[in-house]
Amino acid sequence: MSPIGIFGGTFDPIHYGHLRTALELLQALRLGEVRFIPSGDPPHRGDTFADAGLRLQMVTSAIAVEPGFTVDDCEVRRSGPSFTVDTLAAKRAEFSSTPLGLIIGMDAFLGLTGWHRWEELLDFAHIIVAHRPGWRVPDSGPLGELVARHSTENLDHIHAELNGRIYVQAVTQLEVSSTEIRSLVRAGRDPRFLTPDVIRDVIITSGCYQ
Ligand code: ATP
Repeated sequence: MSPIGIFGGTFDPIHYGHLRTALELLQALRLGEVRFIPSGDPPHRGDTFADAGLRLQMVTSAIAVEPGFTVDDCEVRRSGPSFTVDTLAAKRAEFSSTPLGLIIGMDAFLGLTGWHRWEELLDFAHIIVAHRPGWRVPDSGPLGELVARHSTENLDHIHAELNGRIYVQAVTQLEVSSTEIRSLVRAGRDPRFLTPDVIRDVIITSGCYQ
């Protein structure tokens, strides 16, 4: 079974940085699918701007054009904080014989030790780190130790094993962020070409970032 990439995020809103990264990982790592999982109530962040239903709707519209992408509403449906470890445990139970790869950007990876029960993440999935500009793979501290113990450059490990490896993949760097899109919109400017037109339309019609 080809590995399933699990791409969690607030996606407030989803943009081309997310979509391009997901496509490159899908192809480079020969993933069976990339499953986008918008967070319901993200514990590491303040309130989201668009509500969970609207963020889910935006992700669903944005991914519809790519057959290798799917969306999973499990975190939006679950009550309480959206802890990634709980999501991965649930996906491991759902896909008991398929490798899983948690996709995260290097910026998010560097904050991993602040995540709830972070030591257990690799019990359920591999971690696939998408390299972003200006960030280095840690080589000291708890995260450096984790990388030293679990990293692999051999893609066969990601396909042959269900979980437990860290794999770093360079992707085309698109310095787009949801924060930038929200501030553009608030300033009355057009987010076109940073995010698909369908998302731009939802942003404008709903007024969610005004
Ligand atoms: P915000 O600006 O609100 O913090 P964001 O643009 O970073 O949002 P998130 O939904 O928080 O988006 O990110 C979800 C995941 O996508 C994280 O793992 C993050 O590292 C990754 N990511 C975000 N932007 C990019 C990008 N431009 N290229 C590659 N990965 C990205």
